[in-house]
Amino acid sequence: MQVIETIAAFRAARGRCPQLGPVPTMGFLHEGHLSLVRRAKQECGAVAVSIFVNPTQFGANEDFASYPRNMERDLSLLRDAQTDLVFTPTPTIVYPPGHDTGVEVGSVTGVLEGAVRPGHFRGVATVVCKLVYIVQPTRAYFGQKDAQQAVVITKMAHDLDMPLEVVVCPTVREADGLAMSSRNSYLKPDERRAATVLRRALAAAEARFAAGERSAEALRQAMRETLTTEPMGVVEYVSIADRQSLKELEQVPTDGALASMAFRIGKTRLIDNVILGA
Ligand code: AMP
Repeated sequence: MQVIETIAAFRAARGRCPQLGPVPTMGFLHEGHLSLVRRAKQECGAVAVSIFVNPTQFGANEDFASYPRNMERDLSLLRDAQTDLVFTPTPTIVYPPGHDTGVEVGSVTGVLEGAVRPGHFRGVATVVCKLVYIVQPTRAYFGQKDAQQAVVITKMAHDLDMPLEVVVCPTVREADGLAMSSRNSYLKPDERRAATVLRRALAAAEARFAAGERSAEALRQAMRETLTTEPMGVVEYVSIADRQSLKELEQVPTDGALASMAFRIGKTRLIDNVILGA
C-alpha cells in the first residue's frame, strides 16, 4: 500500500494500476467506508482511497475543525483491506493559492441537505470532479448513506459527460440499526441510545408503505411522529422525494421514492434514508 500526498506522485503511481476504483472519504474510517473499499477492490482489481477532510464542503459554523481524524488507525484499516493507493493531500495541495473554480450542480443541490447547508454540494462536486480528473477511473464508489451526494455526483458525471459509472453501495448499520458515520463518535452514551430513533422512523415509513400507503404526506407524518417520540432530538427535515430530481412528492410512484431525514441530537446532526419500493 502506497500513501501519497501530492497530485504529481499520485498520478505517477496511478499509471502503474490499469484499473483503479476510487473511494473518496474524509477518514475516521468505519465498516461503511470499508464496504466500499472491498467492493472497489473486487470490481476493479485495485482500489485508491482518498482521505481528505474537504474544507469547502463545510459551512462557517460547521464542524471542520473538530471533525474526527485518526490517520494512523485509518491506514492500518486500509492496509488490512488490501488497499493499493491512499491519497492524503493537504488543503493547500487541493486548493493552492488562487484556486478559483467550482462545480455547480443544479436543482438537486438546492433541496434537503443543500437547503440547510448552502455551498456544501459545490464543495463536494468540486473535490470529486478534481479526483476524477486525477484518477481517471471508469467506476467510483459512494455510499447510499449520503443519498443526495450520490444523486449529485451521478448528475454531475452525466451532465459533464464523464465516462464514469457512479456505484452506490448499501448503507452499513450498527447492530441496533444506526447508520455508521464518523460523526457518531460525537454522541454521548445517552445520545447514542436516542439516535436509534432515526432507523425506527424509517422503519415506520417502510411499514406504512408495505401496507399500501402511497400518500407522501402520510409517510412523512409517520416518520415525524416516530422522531418526535425522542425528546433529546430536534427534527430538521423529513422528506419523501423523487429518487432522481429529489423533488418532494405527493404520491409515491411505481418506481419508488427516497425517504430521508436530518435529526439533531445535542450538537450532532444525523442523516439517514431508505429507498421505498426498491
Ligand atoms: P465520508 O467519509 O463520510 O465523506 O464518507 C465517504 C464515503 O463513504 C461516502 O460515499 C459515504 O456515503 C460512504 N459512507 C459513509 N457512511 C457509510 C455507511 N454507513 N454505509 C455505507 N457507506 C457509507
